[in-house]
Amino acid sequence: MKFNTKVIHGGQKHEPATGSVNVPVFLTSTFAQTSPGKPIGAYEYARAANPTRQALEDSLASIENGARGLAFASGLAAIDCVLKLLNPGDEVIAVDDLYGGTYRLFTKLFEKYQLKFTFCDFDEAENLAQKLSEKTKLIWIETPTNPLMKLVDIKKVCDFVKDKNILVAVDNTFATPYLQNPIDLGADIVMHSATKYLGGHSDVMAGALIAKDAELGEKLHFIQFASGGILGPHDSYLVLRGIKTLALRVQRHSENGLIVAEFLENHPAVNKVFYPGLKSHPQHDLAKKQMSGFGGMLSFTFKSGRKEDAIKFLENLKVFTLAESLGGVESLANYPTMMTHASIPAEQKLALGITEDLVRLSVGIEDVEDLIPDLGNAFH
Ligand SMILES: *Cc1c(COP(=O)(O)O)cnc(C)c1O
Repeated sequence: MKFNTKVIHGGQKHEPATGSVNVPVFLTSTFAQTSPGKPIGAYEYARAANPTRQALEDSLASIENGARGLAFASGLAAIDCVLKLLNPGDEVIAVDDLYGGTYRLFTKLFEKYQLKFTFCDFDEAENLAQKLSEKTKLIWIETPTNPLMKLVDIKKVCDFVKDKNILVAVDNTFATPYLQNPIDLGADIVMHSATKYLGGHSDVMAGALIAKDAELGEKLHFIQFASGGILGPHDSYLVLRGIKTLALRVQRHSENGLIVAEFLENHPAVNKVFYPGLKSHPQHDLAKKQMSGFGGMLSFTFKSGRKEDAIKFLENLKVFTLAESLGGVESLANYPTMMTHASIPAEQKLALGITEDLVRLSVGIEDVEDLIPDLGNAFH
C-alpha cells in the first residue's frame, strides 16, 4: 500500500462482530474468560491491550514501516519507555537542539538513575565519533530540531553505529511519517508526540513508539505494560481519526509553510528564517534527500534583535494563536525562550541560538491569503 492508502486502511479492519466500518471505542478495562486463562477473544486486561488502542498501534506500525506500534498517554511517556530499555551506567548521545521536555526528562529524571547523557551537534561525524564510548547504548535524534530546524542525517548516523549494538531512536514529530521515514533509513525506534501532527487537531495528548522489528517491539511493550503509561480508548480513537487526514493536512502545511517562510525571508524586519525548504537553509540539500517535503514548522529572528519586538509581534497576531504546541490545523505562534524551552538553562539556550528575538511558527492549513497579512500586520 502507498501512504495515502495506508493512513486510511493501514492495520485497519472492519470491526468483526458488527461490520462497523470505524473502529469502535471499546470502553472496557477487562475482557471475559470462559475458563481461567482462556479469554473469549485476544484480550484480557486493557493495560496490556485494548482493541481501539490496538487499531491505532497497528496503524502507527503501518505508516512508519515498522513491525510494532505502541500508543502512550503523551509523547514524554513514550520517551520514558525507551529510556527504560537501558541500565544504570549506560550512556545516551542526543542532539543538542532538543525539545525542552525531552531535555528535562533526560537530565532532571534519568540522570539520577545513573544514565549519562551527552549532547552533540551531529553535523560532523567526528563529533559523534568523539562522544561514542563502550557504554553508549542509545542515540537520540530529533530532525528537524525544535525550534531551530537543524537537520540530522539519519542514514549517516545509522550507518556509523551499525554493528555497534547501539540503538538509534528518532523523534519524528516535526517531520511526520508523510515526509520522513526513519526506519527506512536504518533507525530502530521512531517516536512521536502524537499530540502534534498525528492527532492534528489540538484536541488530544498522546505519544507513539514504532519499533523496527518484533523483538524490540516486544521489549518496549513489556515496559509499557509494566509501567502503565498507555493511551486510553477515547484518545486512541481521536489519534486514529487524525491519522486518516495526515497526508492531506501535511501537504497543505508544507505548501503554506514554504509561502510563509519566503514571505518572512523577504520582510525588512526579519533577520533570519529557519526553514529546511529555503535555499538559504544550510542543510537544504540534506532536507531534499531525507524528506519528501518540508512541513509547516519554522522559526525566525528580528533584524533589531530585540526581545520587545518579538513580544509585540506575538501580541499583535490575530489569525495565529499564541500558544504552546504545534502541528494542529490552526496556525500557532510560540516564544521558545519563555514557553516551550523555558526548562533549558539560559546559557545553554544562548549557546544554541535560542535568543530572545526568536519566534517559532506552526503554520496551519488555513488559506495562506489570510495568514500572510496577519503576519505582515503583526510587525507594526
Ligand atoms: C511536544 C513534543 C514532545 C513531547 O510530547 P508530549 O505529547 O507533549 O508529551 C516531544 N518531542 C517533540 C519534538 C515535541 O514537539
